[in-house]
Amino acid sequence: MKILVINCGSSSLKYQVFDMAKEDVLAKGLVEKIGLPGSFLKHRRGEESNHLVETPIKDHEVAITLVIEALTSGEHGVVKDMSEIEAVGHRVVHAGEKYATSVLITPEVMQALRECIALAPLHNPPNIMGIEVCSRLMPAVKHAAVFDTAFHQTMPEYAYRYALPQTYYEKYGIRRYGFHGTSHRYVTERAAVLLGKSADELKLITCHLGNGASVAAISGGKSMDTSMGFTPLEGLIMGTRSGDLDPAIIPFIMEKEQMSPEQVNNFLNKSCGMNALSEVSSDFRVIEDAAAQGDHKSKLALEMYYYRVRKYVGAYAAALGGVDAIVFTAGLGENSPEVRDEVCKHLGFMGVEIDPAKNRVRGKEVDLSTASAKVRVLLIPTNEELVIARDTKFIVGSV
Ligand code: AMP
Repeated sequence: MKILVINCGSSSLKYQVFDMAKEDVLAKGLVEKIGLPGSFLKHRRGEESNHLVETPIKDHEVAITLVIEALTSGEHGVVKDMSEIEAVGHRVVHAGEKYATSVLITPEVMQALRECIALAPLHNPPNIMGIEVCSRLMPAVKHAAVFDTAFHQTMPEYAYRYALPQTYYEKYGIRRYGFHGTSHRYVTERAAVLLGKSADELKLITCHLGNGASVAAISGGKSMDTSMGFTPLEGLIMGTRSGDLDPAIIPFIMEKEQMSPEQVNNFLNKSCGMNALSEVSSDFRVIEDAAAQGDHKSKLALEMYYYRVRKYVGAYAAALGGVDAIVFTAGLGENSPEVRDEVCKHLGFMGVEIDPAKNRVRGKEVDLSTASAKVRVLLIPTNEELVIARDTKFIVGSV
């Protein structure tokens, strides 16, 4: 069974084709700058080198048409025609409280996703557009939706409610939803395998540290709490997002800087975080280099980042009443030994101890702990696309 996975953003689109017999990636690629100058498609078949198409891509319809051309091309393709693709799995950011698992896309599901636009105005519209365009261009194929929020639907009410009047929860859906659920779920399953135990008997703290970042507290394979909330703005300091703030700062800034609600939301999502603190970049590679050369702002940004992750790990260890393993994943969690070291080195009091030699590793599954550590520290590269492909296979196999 061949499955196409689509992750559609506002101006970008990532895709992968899996052969589910052995879960091999046959092809993958991305389209960037959709609707903007300089748009292109980068496509790769297997381990071959990238095939680049630089052309105006005015909208998602043109983008998906180009993807289909690349996948069916004699030179770079992996299928003769799209009828060889049995199903398409779509990443969707927000399902509100409606779905706790992945689902087959139906008109009712599409309606539910539209109702969630108010909760995720930046993310759900391009996700919905991707599904609509793919359904038009591939009408004979089944489509499934896999939600970032679904895994966190197991959070208890005392963790997901804010201390706001109940009516705000009921009228507007204001509660914590959590995101990166597909990633937290994948590394939870892999951690159980690596530790040789069932997820049911484990308490885990999973740290998804990428451009967007979140920590989750997992007990018995279920999400009990997570640092992102009503939107992906809450929690850790991120590339360009502020993370946690005293909420009174927001009206204060709005008044001082004459910002509208939309402007302040954009500001907190796009003009804050590591980029604003370091004043060099949102990319940790650049910030780490600048700090190594003595740049004070970059050093402070990194100290603040590590400190915030550590606080969440400590809080979640308390929330779970102990922890068996801490997992690092995503761009930074997988590739920066410094981040893992700086987060863990102050956690010796709770039995965390990583081996510096083992920690000098990037992007592969490793237990980084010393033999005597009470809490294991695992590096597990995430694979959200594989989870989407597996869920899609399961869903189309059961209809
Ligand atoms: P993601 O959103 O998971 O793709 O993560 C992207 C982020 O990971 C980038 O913005 C970088 O800050 C970080 N990153 C990727 N590779 C490295 C590396 N080799 N060293 C430090 N940070 C990295």
